[in-house]
Amino acid sequence: MKEFKHFINGEFTGSASGKTFENRNPVDNSLLGLVHEAGKTEVAAAVAAAKKAMHGPWAKLTQAARIDMLNRVADRINERFEEFLDAECKDTGKPRKVASHIDIPRGAANFKAFSETLANHPTESFKLDTPDGQGALNYGHRKPKGVVAVISPWNLPLLLMTFKVGPALACGNTVVIKPSEETPATATLLGEVMNECGVPAGVYNVVHGFGGDSAGAFLTAHPDVDAITFTGETRTGEVIMRAASVGLRNISMECGGKNPGIVFSDCDMEKAIEGTMRSAFVNCGQVCLGTERVYVERPIYEVFVQRLKEGVAKLKLGRPEDPEVDFGPLVSLEHKEKVLSYYNLAVEEGATVVIGGGVPDMGTELNNGAWVEPTIWTDLADDARVINEEIFGPCCHIRPFDTEAEVIALANDTTYGLAATVWTENTSRATRVAEAMDVGLVWVNSWFLRDLRTAFGGAKQSGIGREGGVHGLEFYTELKNICIKL
Ligand code: NAD
Repeated sequence: MKEFKHFINGEFTGSASGKTFENRNPVDNSLLGLVHEAGKTEVAAAVAAAKKAMHGPWAKLTQAARIDMLNRVADRINERFEEFLDAECKDTGKPRKVASHIDIPRGAANFKAFSETLANHPTESFKLDTPDGQGALNYGHRKPKGVVAVISPWNLPLLLMTFKVGPALACGNTVVIKPSEETPATATLLGEVMNECGVPAGVYNVVHGFGGDSAGAFLTAHPDVDAITFTGETRTGEVIMRAASVGLRNISMECGGKNPGIVFSDCDMEKAIEGTMRSAFVNCGQVCLGTERVYVERPIYEVFVQRLKEGVAKLKLGRPEDPEVDFGPLVSLEHKEKVLSYYNLAVEEGATVVIGGGVPDMGTELNNGAWVEPTIWTDLADDARVINEEIFGPCCHIRPFDTEAEVIALANDTTYGLAATVWTENTSRATRVAEAMDVGLVWVNSWFLRDLRTAFGGAKQSGIGREGGVHGLEFYTELKNICIKL
């Protein structure tokens, strides 16, 4: 039986309590292995190792040497690509086709992109006039924050975790990661890579377990954690903010979304259909940036609904290793129950089910897995819960609109503010609408096209702060001003 152990101070260790939990493959619910659950002892050991490493060989590395080391980590992930791919697909059930294009290459790229940004980013400097005529020189100096806790979700496990670990380490911090209980594998495998690349013991640590009253809560409450970066549900973010308030620790929050897609009649229909197919259904709809609310201008509404339905009908469901497959199961049976409860609620709330709405028959081997049908609804009222709550499944609702002002109001009528997508060939309109969106990210005629030099994060209840590019420096470093009287 495979065991997923913690990675503390450069070594794989089990839990002192002997407590473990099962890791299952959502494709068929088969048992993948047992995961050690960290208690306060393991969390304290990981934080102590990370704190000690802040004063060891890691702290003495030059920036150039640190960046070289992180580049090696990226290269090594790519050399062990198949192992990472296999681990990610087993944990999540996602098609290899998807993970080999998104999860693993972008996971590796996170170690290179942020190193380069950091190496090329200047700090400010001001010359101050003084009464004696000699003046003073001010300059900004960035120091690492210290021990950073990284709490990550299950939908893009390696990618989202390294999106934080990459800049954290590039800035000279040390990290303790609590990956999602659903997806322990790639964070664990990365421990091996860190050792292979000579990353000093204690710089990268992983503790496994659950959130409340488990590894997640013990880690965020630990007083020697200097900053907490979190990706996950808004409600979990609120709990973590409360923990971070003790000792006034800094936080970065990337939370949920209920993202609108706006399709104007002057769009390129092929692009809009292809893009909405991806934004609503890729990764089985489990992407925080995904579109669950689609607004289509009335003249093309009927055609759009029909074309999206045809696109969904063509999706091939199946095992991750099948190269033809573009649609896998949800991450777990628990999440399947949640998504199905929204499928039922949609009908109760008066939706017309255009396609899907249930559980597909995948045959005896796979029917134990977390499969649901990709689903499209129409005809729900704007105040329906299905329109307002994040489902995080392969589903969307399509509603017609008549004017630009109307659709801007509809799109912004949500407590979330993560992302929006606009489909139009009119650049002036695209700019107007994009600027009117109350979100952190807008894509025009594309979706999930990420340039790692740009800001990433959400408005309203979708998050606090921005990571990505130089923006991550604000969170991962302490900016100090040094004033020298000349
Ligand atoms: P989740 O909030 O349930 O869990 C995320 C992580 O937090 C897990 O590791 C979990 O164990 C941990 N956790 C839970 N309770 C905790 C507690 N009390 N203290 C400390 N840690 C705790 O989220 P999920 O179900 O894993 O992921 C899906 C959610 O993540 C969706 O809402 C999605 O929109 C969001 N998400 C956001 C982004 C973004 O960039 N904004 C990206 C991906 C996912």
